[in-house]
Amino acid sequence: MQRWLVFTMLAACSEPSESAEVHRVVPELELTVPKLEADTLRRYTAALADERMQGRGTASAGGRRAKAWIAARMEELGLDVQRQRVPLIAYETTVREMNPDAIVHSELASGSHAKAWPLVDAGYGIVAPEYGWNDYEGLPVGGAVVVVRSGEPPMTGSFEGDALTEHGRWTTKLERARTQGAAGCLIVHDPRGAGYPWSVVQASFSGARFAAAPGPSQPLQIWGWTEEMPDASRLRATFEQRVHDIEEHNIVGRVGSGVAPFVVVTAHWDHLGTGPAGTFNGAMDNASGVAALLVLARAVKERHATKPLVGTVVFAATAAEEVGLLGARTLAASMHADDVVAAINLDGMNVGPVTPTVELVAPGRSTLDDLFATAVGRQGRRVLGDQSPSGGAAFRSDHAPFAARGIPTLYPQPGYSTSANPALLAFGTQRARRYHTTDDDYDPSWSFEGAVADAKAIYEVIVDLADAEVRPRRVGH
Ligand SMILES: [Zn+2]
Repeated sequence: MQRWLVFTMLAACSEPSESAEVHRVVPELELTVPKLEADTLRRYTAALADERMQGRGTASAGGRRAKAWIAARMEELGLDVQRQRVPLIAYETTVREMNPDAIVHSELASGSHAKAWPLVDAGYGIVAPEYGWNDYEGLPVGGAVVVVRSGEPPMTGSFEGDALTEHGRWTTKLERARTQGAAGCLIVHDPRGAGYPWSVVQASFSGARFAAAPGPSQPLQIWGWTEEMPDASRLRATFEQRVHDIEEHNIVGRVGSGVAPFVVVTAHWDHLGTGPAGTFNGAMDNASGVAALLVLARAVKERHATKPLVGTVVFAATAAEEVGLLGARTLAASMHADDVVAAINLDGMNVGPVTPTVELVAPGRSTLDDLFATAVGRQGRRVLGDQSPSGGAAFRSDHAPFAARGIPTLYPQPGYSTSANPALLAFGTQRARRYHTTDDDYDPSWSFEGAVADAKAIYEVIVDLADAEVRPRRVGH
């Protein structure tokens, strides 16, 4: 039977091994595996990554179709389903003329604008007193557009060794430029510092931009990206601006008692929509995560029917992640942080073979890591910390707004890079190549075995938490 494929394969071996997808597994595992079938994951991923969903862009017809599809699946499962409003402002900036060349957006009011600003080099655009760093010290930036490099300064490594801190995030740099009174901010893209190539900037920052309503109190007249450090002393731009209110929705399904402890499971439904390059179907990112969310919801619902949960599991297909984690921010802000024992994020499931290791993004912050490591360990596998922390994934998905509120978070990723198995390495390469491109299409050859195994471990953590048997503690800083 397809559904047990992974676990029969795992059960075939008695010794753990580093070399390949050979794992020890406890014999009773099969008995406790909920209905986490690879076939369902495949079907759901294919449906969400279908051309009809048009890349599930924020405020798009394809996005509306995706939301309706997800809500229908949750209702079929008998979940208590709500559409949580996510009020946004959309900014559409159409540049007529500009010098130097850049991808830019504006937060000015609707209308035609013709402007010029002095350009001021503001280093990395970072103010980090805890590291004794201030790029803005003595720099007159009022009325100017600051030019800042992406990422963090190459000190001895960076602020936290190789790991990108919040200071290196482009969103932090924009907020810093704003609070320093700059008129605008241009970020010079460095693929190494940012964690992704220029093509990702082009794909991700074309089209409308969105902000949480009612919009920023200190609007940036212009902001965006350049590929190279401009040598011009002024930025000139003529552009048409259209600003309007829109509403997006998190699709939220609850299972359980209706009271605390709450376990939140997020998977963003949105992706990049369509653009000049074509449709960004986002099969891995993040049709696969929403598919896993639904499969987990069914398993937890079945468990609750046989043995009621003490607490409540909130399954949230979140909106507007790609445009700034805006749906997750709304969701996190709508909950009492003290009642939420964990926020588990699914973003880019392992659609390939089972990996000997599972990597944690932003590890070491709570004992939730240990719970997950135990569940993964029962499968004869191992948990590792983030193997590419310089990519800044710690701040780049929907767990981040929960972490910012002090809630323990779990964001597992497949350990492709730490395997010597060529098939797994190939999956890792494939995934990196597809990231935020129009190539992230559903592939019928995917086995989804890895996602089944990972979801199984996540399921165990969810149930332990919702049974109120354990409560993760924060550790470290
Ligand atoms: Zn994603």
